[in-house]
Amino acid sequence: MDHIYWVGIRKSDLLSLEYLYQGSITFFGDEKDGNICLFKKGVARKNHNVELDIFAEFNKEAMERILSKDPEANFMFYNPILAYSLEDHLRKKVICLNSLDILKIIDDKMLCKLWLKGSAQQLECVQMFGREISLKAVNRILGNKQEYIIQLPVSSGGTGTYVFNSQNCDAIIKKLLPSQLYTVTPYYKDALSLNMHCVIYENTFQLYPVSVQIIKKENNNLIYRGCDFISCRSLNDNILDKIKKQAESICQRLCQSNYRGVCGIDFLLIDDQIYFCEINPRFQASTIALNLALADQQLSSVNEATINSFFGFEEPMASSYEIDVPYSAYAYEEDNDYKEFHKNIFQVYFSSSKERDILKDGYDFDVCAEQGAYLFRAIFPYSLTDISNGDMRINELLGGYGIETPIEPICLKLMLLTFGVKISSEAICYIEKNGSLRQGNFSAIDIILWDDFIVNCPYGINHAEYSPFTIKMDADRLALYYFQKKITDISIYYESPLNQKKTSGGVAYSSIAFLATDRLRINYNPVCYYKRSKNACKFCNLPETNQPYSFHDIFEIIDDYIQNESFRHILLGGGSSNPDSNFEEIIRLAEYLKRKTEKPLYLMSLPPKDLDIIPKLYEAGISEIAFNIEIFQETWALRYMPGKGKIPRSYYYEALEKAVSLWGHQGNVRSMVILGLEPEKFLLSGIERLCKIGVQPMLSIFRPMESTPLASKLPLPISKTLELYEKIQDICQKYGQIPGPSCPYCQNNTLSLPFS
Ligand code: SF4
Repeated sequence: MDHIYWVGIRKSDLLSLEYLYQGSITFFGDEKDGNICLFKKGVARKNHNVELDIFAEFNKEAMERILSKDPEANFMFYNPILAYSLEDHLRKKVICLNSLDILKIIDDKMLCKLWLKGSAQQLECVQMFGREISLKAVNRILGNKQEYIIQLPVSSGGTGTYVFNSQNCDAIIKKLLPSQLYTVTPYYKDALSLNMHCVIYENTFQLYPVSVQIIKKENNNLIYRGCDFISCRSLNDNILDKIKKQAESICQRLCQSNYRGVCGIDFLLIDDQIYFCEINPRFQASTIALNLALADQQLSSVNEATINSFFGFEEPMASSYEIDVPYSAYAYEEDNDYKEFHKNIFQVYFSSSKERDILKDGYDFDVCAEQGAYLFRAIFPYSLTDISNGDMRINELLGGYGIETPIEPICLKLMLLTFGVKISSEAICYIEKNGSLRQGNFSAIDIILWDDFIVNCPYGINHAEYSPFTIKMDADRLALYYFQKKITDISIYYESPLNQKKTSGGVAYSSIAFLATDRLRINYNPVCYYKRSKNACKFCNLPETNQPYSFHDIFEIIDDYIQNESFRHILLGGGSSNPDSNFEEIIRLAEYLKRKTEKPLYLMSLPPKDLDIIPKLYEAGISEIAFNIEIFQETWALRYMPGKGKIPRSYYYEALEKAVSLWGHQGNVRSMVILGLEPEKFLLSGIERLCKIGVQPMLSIFRPMESTPLASKLPLPISKTLELYEKIQDICQKYGQIPGPSCPYCQNNTLSLPFS
C-alpha cells in the first residue's frame, strides 16, 4: 500500500519504519523525510498531554496540505480515536480505523472493565463523581486500603491519574471536577505494570512479548516514562502463562466485536496474580522498541501487521509471542530540577548513537520547554529496570537521581561509588604523560579527593559514560566535576612499574599482587575455590582461571615490593581457599612476611573450619582479620552465593566472636556486608548482631559487574542507601563501632568516611 502518512505524537515512532510511510504529521519532529511537525528544532516545546486541541487543529491543516499535493494520500493514526474529530472528507482518508462505538467502549477505563467482566481478572474498582470523593468515602467503599488511584475514565501518559492518600487527599480533591466521573481503585505501590501488544485480525489475533512499563510517581501523579522488554525475561513461566491466557481471552472478545489492528493491554502483577487494567486501542509508546526488534529479525512491524489486519494482505505471524526484544526505552521530559541531567544524557547518547538521530524528535538542549513537555527519547540495548525482587528498581544513572550537587561527603562518595566517573580526553593525555592509570579493584580507579578521602570509582563499566562526574583538567591540575560544577582538585594513583614484571618462573606479578592505595594485596590462591568448583558467588567477577604459581613466586614478588615500593600494610586476600583448608599456606605466608617486614598484616578469608586455627593466625602475626558474611539471611545468602552461602551464618558469628576474643573489639575484627541484595530487616538486624559481638561492619554497596549472573541487577537507589546508612550509623554508635574499615585508604570501596 502506497501513499501512507503517519499522524502521531513523535516522529521517532517511525524508527525502523521509514520505508512504510511517505511522510508524517507529528507533534514533535525534525521536518526531515516529509515530516510536518508542530514542535521542531528551535521551537519552545509544550506538554502534548494537555495540548491535544492544538494538535487536532494542526493535524487538520497538515492533512489538507498533504492532500493538496498528494490526493492519493492515506493517513494512519497513532491514536485512531482522534480521527473522529476530523471532518468527513478528511476522516475518509484515514486507514485502519475502528468504529467509534467500539473505540469508545475500550477507551473508557470503566466501560471497558465492565465489558470484560468475566473475561479477565480485575481489581475492585468503583466510579465516583469528583464531588463524592473523600478519603473516608473511598475507604468505606473499597475497604480501608488507605491509598488509591483516581483516574479520569479517558486519559493517557499519566495525566488525570492521581495517587490519593491521607497525606495528599485535600490537595487532590481540589483538583477534581465535581461533576466529572472518576474511576477509583486501590493503589498497590509494589505492583508491576506490564503491557502486551496485540494485533486483532478478522478471525484471529497475534500476541507480542510482554514489557514492563516504567512508571514514576511524581507529585502525586503516576507518569509513564518508558518500557523494558529485557527485564521481563526474569518473569517466571507461571506469570507469563497467566498474562497470555488473559490476553487471549480479551483478544477473543475484541475479535468478536469486529475490532481490528493494534491495541495494548495493561496488566498489574501483584503477589504472583495478574490483574487486567485497561486496553489502549492505539499504538503504544513502547511500539518503537518492539518494531526495532522485529526489524532486526526481518519480521513485519506492528504497523504492517495492523495494515494487514484491516486489508488482509498477509496472514498473521505464527510465533510473534516468542520473539526476543532486546531493548528498553525511556522518554525524557522537561523538569527544571533535571536540566543538567537531561543535557548529559542527550550529549552522551547521541554522540555514540548518531544513527538514532530520529530519537531527538527535533530537540536540542538549548530549546525552551515547559514543565512536563516531551524532550527526546533513547533506546537502550540493555535493561533499564530490575524486577527480580518483585518490585521495580529503575537505573538511576539513566532515569534520574534528582540530587543537587552532592555536598555531603557520604552522598558524594556513594554517588561516585555507584555512578563512577568519566575522564575527559585532556585529562587522559595528562595522566598518560605522568604514568599509567592504576585500575583499582573491579574495573575502577581510585581518586584522592581530599587528604584522606579516597574513592574507588567505576570507570568504563556500568554505563559510567553517563556519570554526572567527570575528571577534567583545571589549569594544570586534575579536578572532579559534577556536571559543569567543579567539586575539587583531585589526584590519582598511578600504576606501579612492578605490576608489569614477571617472576623468574615467568609468573606475572599482577596475577599475585596488586598495589592499591596504601596497601599491597597478595592473592594467596590463584583462583577462588568456589570459582574452580563452579559454585561462585553471583556478584563476583574475579577470574575463573589464572596462571599457576608457587610460594617461590609469591616470596619473590613480596621481596621486590618491599624493597622498591612504599605502602603501609599488606592484605592477604583474593579468592577463597577450600573451606576445609587447615590454613597452613596462609600461616606460612604470614610467617614469611613477619620475617621480612614490620608492616601490619590484614587477613581476609573464610572462617576456618576448625576454630582452633584462629589463635594460630593471631600467633603468626596477623594484626587485623575479616570473615566476610556479606549476606545475613540464609535463603538470600544461598540465592546469591550458592557455594559460600552454604557455610551457616551462625558459624560466621562464632568465628568472629572467637576472633574478637583475641584481636579485641576496636575494629581489628571486621566483616564485609553487601547493601542491596537482601531485605532491609535482615541487613539491619545482622549489622546489629555484628556490632553487639564487637565486630566492625564494612559496608559494600552492590555494584553489578559485567559477565556475572547479576550483571543486570541494579544497585539500591541513592536515596534508599543514604537512608540505610543513617540507620546503620545509629546502630554502630549504640555499640561504639563505626562503619569500617578504620584505615581511610582501605575505605576506598566501602560506604564509610575517614572522619565519621
Ligand atoms: S568467595 Fe569471594 S572470590 Fe570466591 S566467588 Fe565468592 S566473592 Fe568471588
